[in-house]
Amino acid sequence: MFRDYDSVSRGFILACRPNILKLRLAGGIFQLKPDPTPHDIAEAHVNPTAPLLIVDVDEVLALFMRGFERFVAPYGYEMRITRFALFQNIYRLADGEVMDLDLGRELFNRFFEEEVAHIEATPGACAALGGLAGRASIVVLTNAPGHCREPRARWLARNGFPYPLVINSGPKGPAVAALAARTRAPVAFVDDLLSNLESVAADAPDVRRFQHVADARLRPFAPGDPERHHRVDDWPALAEAIRLSLGLPPE
Ligand SMILES: [Mg+2]
Repeated sequence: MFRDYDSVSRGFILACRPNILKLRLAGGIFQLKPDPTPHDIAEAHVNPTAPLLIVDVDEVLALFMRGFERFVAPYGYEMRITRFALFQNIYRLADGEVMDLDLGRELFNRFFEEEVAHIEATPGACAALGGLAGRASIVVLTNAPGHCREPRARWLARNGFPYPLVINSGPKGPAVAALAARTRAPVAFVDDLLSNLESVAADAPDVRRFQHVADARLRPFAPGDPERHHRVDDWPALAEAIRLSLGLPPE
């Protein structure tokens, strides 16, 4: 997801150019449980002879931005997306001021405790993964606060994503490399964040990389590098690109 959100898990830090907000967010403000990724990776089922797709949740499978937008509305805030950020796009209706950082952090944590199980799935994502699932392993790799593991798992199951869940903290390259090592077949990775795509390029250069930004309002502002990481914001088209990259025949 966008960079502010990323910093929540300490490492989602900062895709391109860090700013004061992100550096402050990155400073351990959100206390996370110990990184469970190694256990998650060991537990995730990966067919050693089948292609593997590793896919992010927020702004890929799930419309996080819209969910958070709804969540803050009763507090008197509205979202006006003019940049690739979170709190900096949220304004107080009473006076038009940008959301206070401390309040933003509080609401963000509350959102993950109370509301994350209710966000909408990205249109087309369920069908797209379902079409690939019979021929490829699929693993969901999300940077999210550790305390939202159960609600996130429930959300995935309820929205038609019955795939292993890996909760990550920080850049995703190491986790993707570890998962990719579990199969001899091609591997693809989808994320909205340039920082994660770059991390995967560095740590697992053979993995095919795709950028997908689910919220149409964010797309114009999302940092990308389409020559290095294929950018596809439409799930049916993305599924076809993934299928080709994994060397799978048409259905
Ligand atoms: Mg994301």
